[in-house]
Amino acid sequence: VIEVRELHKAYGPLEVLKGVTLTAPRGHVVSLIGSSGSGKSTLLRCLNLLEFSQQGEIMFEGEAVRWRGTGHARQPADRAQVTRFRTNLSMVFQQFNLWAHMTVLQNVMEAPLTVLRQPRAEVEPRARALLDKVGIGDKAEAWPAQLSGGQQQRAAIARALCMQPRALLFDEPTSALDPELQQEVVKVIKDLAGEHRTMVLVTHDMRLAADVSDHVVFLHKGRIEEEGPPAQLFGAPRTDRLRQFLSASM
Ligand code: ATP
Ligand code: MG
Repeated sequence: VIEVRELHKAYGPLEVLKGVTLTAPRGHVVSLIGSSGSGKSTLLRCLNLLEFSQQGEIMFEGEAVRWRGTGHARQPADRAQVTRFRTNLSMVFQQFNLWAHMTVLQNVMEAPLTVLRQPRAEVEPRARALLDKVGIGDKAEAWPAQLSGGQQQRAAIARALCMQPRALLFDEPTSALDPELQQEVVKVIKDLAGEHRTMVLVTHDMRLAADVSDHVVFLHKGRIEEEGPPAQLFGAPRTDRLRQFLSASM
């Protein structure tokens, strides 16, 4: 379970998150939708402690982030906890950011080998199985530049999974891809949703959000404007803002 309570985040004077409260139960998929600049990426980055929020609580499986300092000086008090959160809540970015000087297999194995210090004999078979799972087992020895965008993103998903995270955070995983390449990534995300993994998914793809989510959250200017099951949000939006947003994005 991922829980966020009354989270506030500002960049200098710019308030980006203005008191966000959210729960992603174990095994559920929660999608975040909203206009550009509404704070979706910021919320994901605050969740796995890539960014530090100034107020509010973040909990993962009952463990609350411990802070020291207040306001803009607030930061996590415990480095080991930060590593644990980043490992347990593994993130997949819009720009897949594979390391160009490593093969696909090396990319997938890198963090388990260096961050978790797991033995190669254990990591390599897992990495190869994950590449098979996302449909690019034959690309293990290729360089990232030799892969299509959709294949690179699937490699990035395998890399996130190889950390054996307890939850996955996706930040617009299909947005950088041409429409015909989006489907192969959508399929992988749907497979993962079908395995009842805990996921928070930021997406501009309303079809994908409608298909995979247990719960959808509409963020507007740093606040949750409306949330509920996908059938309700997409089928019977209650606020004008969500109606406007949906008519502009479908
Ligand atoms: P998009 O759909 O375009 O990805 P988003 O909902 O993910 O948008 P965020 O990236 O969270 O939006 O950005 C929210 C606001 O915070 C924007 O006004 C953005 O300019 C600002 N912002 C984001 N990152 C930083 C940063 N590192 N420094 C300063 N401002 C930032
Ligand atoms: Mg974003």
